[in-house]
Amino acid sequence: MHFHNLPRATIAHVPMQRPPFYKACPEKVAGFNAGETRACAKKVEMVGENCWRCAAGHQSMQPLVRWQVSGINLYDATGELRIDVLGDEGNKLFGCQADQLAQVWDRQNEDPVALKSIEDFVTRVQFKRLAFRVKSKKEVWQDQEKTRRSLIECNPVSVEAEAKEMLAEVRETLGF
Ligand SMILES: [Zn+2]
Repeated sequence: MHFHNLPRATIAHVPMQRPPFYKACPEKVAGFNAGETRACAKKVEMVGENCWRCAAGHQSMQPLVRWQVSGINLYDATGELRIDVLGDEGNKLFGCQADQLAQVWDRQNEDPVALKSIEDFVTRVQFKRLAFRVKSKKEVWQDQEKTRRSLIECNPVSVEAEAKEMLAEVRETLGF
């Protein structure tokens, strides 16, 4: 696994053909550190009225909603990159919670207000400029090796770092 930082990258495109979220298992399971708990967060399937089940067999009545978007296009000075966003870091990236979007998603075809909320979401996210930390992992899929990149963290662009970088570029161009 590799990690890389993109100190200044812009979101070029967020695919919205499919829901950018999934329903996740709320069952508390052991966390990554001893003594901590976290939500199981595996995908749940509806198995009855108000009854959902995940692959681990947990049953719940009220699933969580978590971000899951594949193929967000970013670009920066070095080129273009496609990343996946999964889980809570999406709250920071998109500026809202996945369940807020989920509430309007299913009504967008019949409710103009809901549709407007989705459009506003896209407008708000597209061309947003942030500092990204991304991990990449090679995977083999149908005999082809693919690199899957996913978001670990995003933060506001450091204005100071940006100014220093621009100044360095100017100096280089002018040769002093
Ligand atoms: Zn579960």
